Amino acid sequence: MTTDVTEPLLARLQEIENLGGALSLLTWDQSVKMPPGGAEARARQLATLGRLRHERWLDPGLERDLAAVERDAPDGATADLVRVVRHDLERASRVPNDYVARSAAHAAATYDAWLDARRGGAIARVVGMLERTLDLSLEYAAFFPQVAHPADALIDDADEGATVASLRPLFGSLRDALVPRVAAWSAAPPAPPLPVGPFAVDEQLAAALELAQAFGYDLERGRQDLTAHPFAIRFAHGDVRITTRAKPDDLTEVLFSTLHEAGHAMYEQGVDPGLEGTPLAEGASAGVHESQARLWENQVARSRAFWDFALPGLQRRFPALAGVDVDAAFRAVNRVQPSLIRTDADEVTYNLHVIVRFDLELELLEGRLAVRDLPEAWAERYAADLGVTPNGDADGWLQDVHWFAGTIGGSFQGYTLGNVLSAQFFAAAARDLGDVDAQMAVGDFAPLRTWLSENVYRHGRRKPVDRLVRDATGGPLDLRPYLAYLDRKFGGLAGAR
Ligand code: ZN
Repeated sequence: MTTDVTEPLLARLQEIENLGGALSLLTWDQSVKMPPGGAEARARQLATLGRLRHERWLDPGLERDLAAVERDAPDGATADLVRVVRHDLERASRVPNDYVARSAAHAAATYDAWLDARRGGAIARVVGMLERTLDLSLEYAAFFPQVAHPADALIDDADEGATVASLRPLFGSLRDALVPRVAAWSAAPPAPPLPVGPFAVDEQLAAALELAQAFGYDLERGRQDLTAHPFAIRFAHGDVRITTRAKPDDLTEVLFSTLHEAGHAMYEQGVDPGLEGTPLAEGASAGVHESQARLWENQVARSRAFWDFALPGLQRRFPALAGVDVDAAFRAVNRVQPSLIRTDADEVTYNLHVIVRFDLELELLEGRLAVRDLPEAWAERYAADLGVTPNGDADGWLQDVHWFAGTIGGSFQGYTLGNVLSAQFFAAAARDLGDVDAQMAVGDFAPLRTWLSENVYRHGRRKPVDRLVRDATGGPLDLRPYLAYLDRKFGGLAGAR
């Protein structure tokens, strides 16, 4: 990609990436290592670096160097780079620096109020903060007057090209398809869970990491640590880390959170190293990123074939699993049960949690719902869609951090897009690879990983999402492979009971 005309642009982008990597490292440290006393200074450090990075985007020199490359009629990766940088610059330049500073300070204060409310502190404070978050979200949307819906401005940052007009009917169809399936598949008592421990946490971490490595997570360019909320984070091509959490009595916690985050990390590790130092070296979108995590977590690690492979090794480490056979393990990790907490939800009910949030966000942004009425609206939707009622705020509307550390709008749709795409990518891979179940049953994940590298990982952000999906799967985003996957697996489990 480097030529005389691209060199000044690449140097500027590398500096922006360096600031981004430093921001990520401070964020990782904040969750993994930092003592509580560091919080105040860390918030200032993150705000300063964030402002510096935004200023780099707004530097007139970047516009000049980008325009020079555009005039040079670039092709290949350089053309893709120009397209993506022009898009990002166009968006960044609409957002004034003072907004970036105000919203960052507000997010930090709201996060604090949210933590306090979850511990039983004042609800009125967090309601007041969230009202201001809604104002700030609408202020942000107003920087993009061309959008049809205020949420479109926020959605586009995470899932470029997706809009309320495209997502509302998609999610509506999915909800209509899922509600009766959940009722049917959760009618009988659920299968027994895996035996409870205690399992030594060190041993659990080692077991989960070994499986992540079997999938292809490269520890020469990664590492694993414990956190309250697991995540994957990239500092550079050579350093993509995951965090996980473990419960002494429940092995599935560490297994599925590790394998989910490893899916995110393998995507980042698999991007063409030639794209390093540019915005192309990231995932294509929040939805595609999530699809890669959910594919390894669900299509692979919740399959019968995976348990054929993994169970004997887990039984050697954890004698408490001795009496479990593959069928029982497969059933134990695929229990369908409506529940209150999104992050603990099974594959089938999970999207209903997301769609509740997505719809409430739209109502808030459209002014049809006031923040003070959100707890009641939340409880009503959970009763209608999932048949469960929160016991309090913490397992209701305060359960997810997203609204309390960012904006209202734009941060949930990627989860469901990811679930839908995970089935579509897996079905396409299985068509190309032959008997992928037989490969997984003997622990041979290389064919699947290679397919994903070729068709998804290596491209980074080079292809717009729609083209990436069409090139890899032969068609546009489609609910049918996802519903077919659910019917095959959970219909089969319910039928065989
Ligand atoms: Zn994820």
